[in-house]
Amino acid sequence: MESRKQFIMNTEQVLERMAKACQRCGRSAQEVSLMAVTKTHPLEATHWALEAGLKHLGENRVQELARKHPQVDDPSACWELIGPVQSNKARLAVEHADRIQTLDRLKLVNAFERHCADLGKARLRVLLQVNVGEDPAKHGCEVAEAASLVEAIQQTQHLELEGLMTIGELTEEEARIRCTFSRLRELRDRLSAGSGLALPVLSMGMTGDLEWAIEEGSTLIRVGTALFGARE
Ligand SMILES: *Cc1c(COP(=O)(O)O)cnc(C)c1O
Repeated sequence: MESRKQFIMNTEQVLERMAKACQRCGRSAQEVSLMAVTKTHPLEATHWALEAGLKHLGENRVQELARKHPQVDDPSACWELIGPVQSNKARLAVEHADRIQTLDRLKLVNAFERHCADLGKARLRVLLQVNVGEDPAKHGCEVAEAASLVEAIQQTQHLELEGLMTIGELTEEEARIRCTFSRLRELRDRLSAGSGLALPVLSMGMTGDLEWAIEEGSTLIRVGTALFGARE
C-alpha cells in the first residue's frame, strides 16, 4: 500500500477523473459517488478513506469485512460487500454489511431475509449483481433471471433493493466494456418500469474503466488500485 500522502494525492486525481467524465457527458459531479475499495489493505486504509470523506467502503470477503467493521467506530461509514457470498457466510454478511452488492440468486434472497429476522435487523440494503457480459467465470445473475429475482426481493420484509451492480468485461476493448455498462443501465430501466421500484443505484466502474462507466450512467464507482496502489 502507498503512503497516506500518496493516497491523498491519488484521491484528488480520481475525483478529477470523475469530474472530467461527468463534464464530458453533461452529468453533475454530485450524481456519482466514489467507493474506496479497501480489500486486502490494513485497517489504516479504511481510516484514510473516512478522513478523506469517502464513506463507502468496499470489502470483497465476508470474513475480512467482519474483522474490520467492529474495529472502526464511525457511524457515517457505509460498509459494502462487493464480493461473492457463499450461503454459509450469509449470516456473517448480514451482520456486518450496511449494503450487500452481490445478491445474485434466490437462495441468498431467502437466506438474507431469514438472517435479518434472526438478527433483528429491520432492513438490509442490497444491489442485484448482474453478469451482463454473460461471462461464465463471473458471479452475478443472468439478465433473463433478473426480473424474477427483483420480484422475490420485493416480497421480503427486510430487503431493500436499491439498484444493480456489475463488473465490466475483462478486455481492453472500450466498445465491449461500455456495452456491459449500457446494458446494465437499460436493464435497470426495464426492471424499474416493471416493478415500480426506483432502483437509483448503478454500481459500475473500477480503476481501469471508471470514465466509461460514468459516461454510461454509473452512480457509484468502486476504486481500489487508483487510490491505494496495487494489491499484493
Ligand atoms: C477489487 C474490486 C474493485 C476495485 O478494483 P480496482 O481495479 O483495484 O479499482 C471493484 N469492484 C469489485 C467487485 C472488486 O472486487
